[in-house]
Amino acid sequence: MPGSEEIGDDGIGVEKGDGLQLPQQPAFPRGPPRSRNYSWAELMRRVWRIDVLECPACHGRMRILAAIHSPEAIRAILDCLGLPSRAPPVASAALEQDCE
Ligand SMILES: [Zn+2]
Repeated sequence: MPGSEEIGDDGIGVEKGDGLQLPQQPAFPRGPPRSRNYSWAELMRRVWRIDVLECPACHGRMRILAAIHSPEAIRAILDCLGLPSRAPPVASAALEQDCE
């Protein structure tokens, strides 16, 4: 059924249909990683020591519902929220100043 949601073995919701895809691994794997394929959340924790899945308001656990890859869908969501949906223009390099 398009757009339906199931709960996977890892407790993460699995969105079906509508072109939405989910990460294939849980955000915080139980135990040490078996390989160098760290999840995004694990990489953020290791590099920046931040827990991206902790709610900033209540400090509860957040869960990833879906990853949206379609540029059209991303643009539509950002436009609907009134957020910029285009990358800022690339600034030209500053002219070299005389270094005398
Ligand atoms: Zn919260």
